[in-house]
This record gives sequence, structure tokens and C-alpha cells, in this order.
Amino acid sequence: MQLIDGKKISSDILDEIMIQVKELQARGKKVPHLATVLVGDDGASQTYVAAKVKACERVGFESTLVRLPESTSEQELLEKVNELNANSAIDAYIVQMPLPKHINEQKIIESIFPQKDVDGFHPQNVGKMALNLPTYLPATPYGIIQLLKRYNISTEGKHCVVIGRSNIVGSPMSILMARNSNPGNCTVTLCHSKTVNLKEHTLLADIIIIALGRPEFLTANMVKQGAVVIDVGITRVASAQTKSGFKLLGDVKFDEVAPKCSYITPVPGGVGPMTIASLLMNTLLAVNSKN
Ligand code: NAD
Repeated sequence: MQLIDGKKISSDILDEIMIQVKELQARGKKVPHLATVLVGDDGASQTYVAAKVKACERVGFESTLVRLPESTSEQELLEKVNELNANSAIDAYIVQMPLPKHINEQKIIESIFPQKDVDGFHPQNVGKMALNLPTYLPATPYGIIQLLKRYNISTEGKHCVVIGRSNIVGSPMSILMARNSNPGNCTVTLCHSKTVNLKEHTLLADIIIIALGRPEFLTANMVKQGAVVIDVGITRVASAQTKSGFKLLGDVKFDEVAPKCSYITPVPGGVGPMTIASLLMNTLLAVNSKN
């Protein structure tokens, strides 16, 4: 069994981006500029956004954090989005989800300029992804593709079972694994809450990608010997063993599943660190496609 080290791969990618930023500067070009819009004070969102700003600093990107109060109306947020669309100094931006309940997320996503939508959530970018055209891939699936690629994990002709069909992870992941590309070329089964006899599907899988949000859901009796298991789930649970009083659990019962796997991602330190690296790769792409 080999552990897939997302922390190391994401750090390698940030180093590669940093070199490319220096090359841009050497050619007299401006450095990439990523903006993040954060509405409200959701604790998890604040942590993600702070990590994004820090990663921008590390690679030499300019970054702008636009903080708006929880009471911001949909109209006010749309105006901010239009401002960012029109601002030529900003190459790319994201609106941190989830948004307060009174704001229609889909309306906001659709108002972002597709060329600046480095989350890859705009329907135009989702469509391009499905058609295997160059575009921004959504950060978490893109991160998983990078892990498979950089560990030289063979996917062609393999049976991949994706569990979970969210717009940000499961659904795009199923599309990417089925595309005619490398990694890709899998026969894909997409499982979700209405799937009957999930175990019958997972036991046939060469590759399992699970994005559920139910801690330790995937157990050893659901996994074939030699499978590749990618665990996207992150759930905070109370723990008496840690100083903070909580620990992070994935969707996989790691201790019993890992010995059966050829490759497996841990939680934390697997898929999680890749998300920001993917976002910065997309931002660099936003700049390079203009140059
Ligand atoms: P979500 O909550 O939007 O969707 C969960 C999916 O699981 C749904 O499509 C549902 O149909 C499916 N599901 C629920 N019960 C099921 C069952 N019994 N059998 C089969 N399918 C079932 O999820 P999400 O936003 O994709 O997030 C999933 C997990 O991944 C969460 O723990 C989240 O925190 C984590 N996540 C991690 C990262 C990262 O960077 N590592 C990024 C995004 C999400």
C-alpha cells in the first residue's frame, strides 16, 4: 500500500507556480492577481480564505480579499461581482461558498465572467469541461486528477466508482474520469443517496473516489483487494485525544481499508491540500491565456 501525499504534491505545485511567476516578472509581465469575495463570518470559510491568501503570498501572486457583511443583499453582491468583472487589474476571482441563505448562489455563479471564474463553477466552464475543451477545472476534482497523474496511477480501462454527486466534487469527478484523457478513460459508475446496494458497486471498483461527508462510511468489506481509494470527505468530530478537542475524519475507515489498497489518500493530508494548489493553477492559466 502506498500513501498518496497531498501535502507534498501541493507544495511541489506551489513551488512550480512560484517559478512561473518569476518568469512572468522577468519578461516584464504583471504578476497574477486573484481576488476572493467573502460574505459573512462563517468560521470554515474564513479559514479557507485565509489559507488562499497565504498561498498567494507564497507563490508571489497579488491577492485581494473583499469582505462583505452577512447582511449584504443579492443586488449588492451582484454589483460587486460586476465591478470585479470590469476590473482589468484582477485576473481571476472566486466568491467563497456557501453564501448567506438570502442570496441565490446559482445567480451569483452565473454572473461571474467565465474567463475569471477560476472555481470552474460557471455553466460555460462546466460545459467546456464535459466536452473536454480547455477550461478551469473545479478545484477539488482537478486536485485529484493531479494526484493520480503525479503518482502515475494507471486509470485507462479501469472501473471507477464515484460516491457522491455534488456539483463541486462528485459530478465533475465522474465526468473527468470518463473523459478521453490521461488520467481518465475509466468506465465510471456514479453512486449517490438513491443508489441501491452500494457495496455491490464498490466491490467491483479498481478506483473509488468518495465525497460524501459521512465519517468512516467506506469499510474494508466494501473494497476490492488492490483498489485505489481517494477520500474527499472532511468531517470535524469531537476528540478527547487532541489539544483542540476535535479531529478531522474522512469518509473512509482508514485503518481497515488501507491494508487492502494499492494507493490511498489520508485525511488530513490527502485531497484537502490540493484544492488551493488547483485554484492557483487555474489563476495562472487565466493569466497565460491572456498573454
Ligand atoms: P454534498 O453534501 O454536497 O453531497 C454529498 C453527496 O453524497 C450527495 O450527492 C448525496 O447524493 C451523496 N450521498 C449521501 N448519502 C449517501 C449514501 N448513503 N450513499 C451514497 N451516496 C450518498 O457533498 P460535497 O460538497 O461534495 O462534500 C462531500 C465531502 O467532501 C464533505 O465532507 C466535504 O467537507 C468534503 N469536501 C472536501 C474538499 C477538499 O478540499 N478536500 C472539497 C469539497 C468537499
